[in-house]
Amino acid sequence: MTVTLTTAGPLPSVQDAENTYDVTVVGAGVVGAAIARELARHRLRTALIDAADDIGNGTSKANTAILHTGFDAVPGSLEARLVREGQELLAAYAGETGIPVERVGALLVAWDEEQLAALPGLRAKAGRNGYHASRIIGADELRRREPHLGPGALGALEVPDESVICPWTTPLAFATQAVRAGVHLHLNCRVRDVGSDAGDHLLTTTRGPLRTRYLVNAAGLYADEIDRLLGHDVFTVTPRRGQLVVFDKLARGLVSHILLPVPGPAGKGVLVAPTVFGNVLLGPTAEDLDDRTATGSTAGGLRLLREKGRRIVPALLDEEVTAVYAGLRAATGQEDYRIQEYPARRYVAVGGIRSTGLTASMAIARHVRGLLADTGLDAGEPGPLPPLTMPNLGEAFPRPYRSAELIAGDPAYGTLVCHCEQVTLGEIRDALRATIPPHSLDGLRRRTRARGGRCQGFYCGAAVRALFEEARP
Ligand SMILES: Cc1cc2nc3c(=O)[nH]c(=O)nc-3n(C[C@H](O)[C@H](O)[C@H](O)COP(=O)(O)OP(=O)(O)OC[C@H]3O[C@@H](n4cnc5c(N)ncnc54)[C@H](O)[C@@H]3O)c2cc1C
Repeated sequence: MTVTLTTAGPLPSVQDAENTYDVTVVGAGVVGAAIARELARHRLRTALIDAADDIGNGTSKANTAILHTGFDAVPGSLEARLVREGQELLAAYAGETGIPVERVGALLVAWDEEQLAALPGLRAKAGRNGYHASRIIGADELRRREPHLGPGALGALEVPDESVICPWTTPLAFATQAVRAGVHLHLNCRVRDVGSDAGDHLLTTTRGPLRTRYLVNAAGLYADEIDRLLGHDVFTVTPRRGQLVVFDKLARGLVSHILLPVPGPAGKGVLVAPTVFGNVLLGPTAEDLDDRTATGSTAGGLRLLREKGRRIVPALLDEEVTAVYAGLRAATGQEDYRIQEYPARRYVAVGGIRSTGLTASMAIARHVRGLLADTGLDAGEPGPLPPLTMPNLGEAFPRPYRSAELIAGDPAYGTLVCHCEQVTLGEIRDALRATIPPHSLDGLRRRTRARGGRCQGFYCGAAVRALFEEARP
């Protein structure tokens, strides 16, 4: 297995014809990484490039981590289809590769008569989206199943297949499998311009030129800018910020399901949900901004979340907060994705992947592979991908510190470094030696959970940093 992963220095010279890529995917978020993995099945020379120093470092690292059923999508939309297909594909893939998923189910809680009256319509909509397992439950059953709900809940729509998934392992799994199958990964590589030369795309990047026959634009919040570089003016991304609060693991017992609000004109609203790491999330807000880098939390946003959270699960607000974060959805003013192929340009734009891209990623990837074929790419027959097992970060699944067998074989799995999250020396060492190693302490946290617990690295920070520095070339 030859792995090509570069993070600095010039890209392979475009003067040399053999360095021309068949396909280049711009953006190594969950969507671009899934597309690269899909292309890796074929005998193509494929590149996956990203401006950041890691996989999934944009919107993909900061979402609510729900594997949606698509019950509430706009019926007939491309998003509805790709979320439905993507959920099945990703659930199966997670099972194969060890990405933690918990099928906790969702309850859309009605807090007033108007919301209660809306539940049959939502159930019918779920049916139009091909989802038939939802059912309406009354106040008594709701309270039995969620005893910590605030007063006044009148009933709910149950959606038993809504699940929570690890948002960090998913893009990393896609990219790892792609790279092991021969895709070249170039990080710290921002596309600044796109020109054409003899029918090929000639990209100007911060690491020099790159030549490619086909181009896929999966640049998330910047997909409109890349699209404009190709001469289009079809959509504009408006970053829609979602702020979230992460509550300590001691709060986990307060919530059994994903507790969703009944959607209103202001959108999907604020939810309370368990995470696969054993915490409880409260959020997200929905704020349309101009700044595509505004991933900070605000006092106003957190105040709003606390008000909403107090209504949903009052006792949650007495629990300790472990962290706050915010992510930016790539909204484009259309209730659907903006995926478009341009055969004359050998180009596919994958824009507007707003609030469901984690769920839909694998289906988007298949769809894009089909669109590339429509633009003339002869990919040949697909072959198998190398099997992959990802390290488990999920609280509900076996962790190394609990495995006597693993520890007997290698005592590093019995040596705790991060005590809050019970992360061992063995896991940190493995992450630092992985096919796609982290290039920052945050990257290491997303691979191991080290420094992600209630002390936020106060106790283990120095030890984790020392291990990270030691492993750096
Ligand atoms: C608050 C919130 C909650 C969400 N909840 C859920 C959920 O519960 N379930 C779900 O399925 N989805 C959810 N989503 C949506 C999901 O996170 C996104 O749809 C998904 O992460 C989008 O992935 P992406 O790969 O398109 O974009 P990104 O992850 O942003 O990746 C785009 C990449 O392109 C790179 N890039 C940009 N410009 C350039 C350039 N010029 N050159 C090179 N690289 C470039 C960036 O560095 C970035 O890494 C949520 C989103 C938010 C914000």
